[in-house]
Amino acid sequence: MEKIALITGASRGIGAATARLAAKHGWAVVVNYLANEAAAQGVVDTIRADGGTAIAVQGDVASEADILAMFQAVDTELGRISALVNNAGVVDVTARVDAMSTERLRRMFDTNVIGSIVCAREAVRRMSTRHGGSGGAIVNVSSAASRLGSAHQYVDYAAAKGAIDTFTIGLAREVAAEGIRVNAVRPGLIETDIHASGGLPDRVRDLSHQVPMLRGGTAGEVAEAIVWLMSPAASYTTATLMDVSGGR
Ligand code: NAD
Repeated sequence: MEKIALITGASRGIGAATARLAAKHGWAVVVNYLANEAAAQGVVDTIRADGGTAIAVQGDVASEADILAMFQAVDTELGRISALVNNAGVVDVTARVDAMSTERLRRMFDTNVIGSIVCAREAVRRMSTRHGGSGGAIVNVSSAASRLGSAHQYVDYAAAKGAIDTFTIGLAREVAAEGIRVNAVRPGLIETDIHASGGLPDRVRDLSHQVPMLRGGTAGEVAEAIVWLMSPAASYTTATLMDVSGGR
């Protein structure tokens, strides 16, 4: 099987760390990005400088048309993918449910849930032995929020990640006999830019004391779990929700 991996939202954070680590493990990597072309190209350049293969492909995972165009570009430029990492995600920690706009809810679910499911659908159409594929691995990036509930102005995010957990288990069982493994990682408090984007720049520092390991994790530590789940070393692991949360 050719090792071609598509990682959504890979211009920074956990996605970028996963792209770099996957390339080190011999994957040809597709670095999907929403808007920051220069950052995505920076990830690609680093991988190429180390002798790896990578391309950057723009695409908004909240847009079906963008997802279809992205998969077509990958088919043409690299070939059929054998791994998908549904990493792109947004968070917003600025409103309790009684102040939450429907627009925010739609953005949360369009990006974090529907985007992941549509990408998974396109991946299954390419990986499944039913469709002439030779199998593959899908890793969904969920969150510890899915079991904590996140009653701190982002219950919608927790609900979206809960949907991802359930989708992971269901899809894993649906396609298990077609050569596709589906798993999720559930990061805890990880030091990335998502906290500033979501409205709480000091979140990792402020909440580290709640983590049994007394620190935030790094994007690289989450990437290690994702790349293992992508790899043949995880050949009998499917429908698993793996916490990478320092015990939180
Ligand atoms: P990040 O903000 O650095 O990365 C998220 C990436 O997704 C960004 O590159 C962003 O541009 C991209 N993205 C957002 N909307 C997109 C869209 N519509 N289309 C394409 N790309 C889009 O944050 P991160 O911490 O690296 O987050 C990666 C994943 O990890 C997310 O799914 C997030 O929910 C999850 N997660 C993060 C933490 C944490 O503490 N950092 C904890 C649990 C789960």
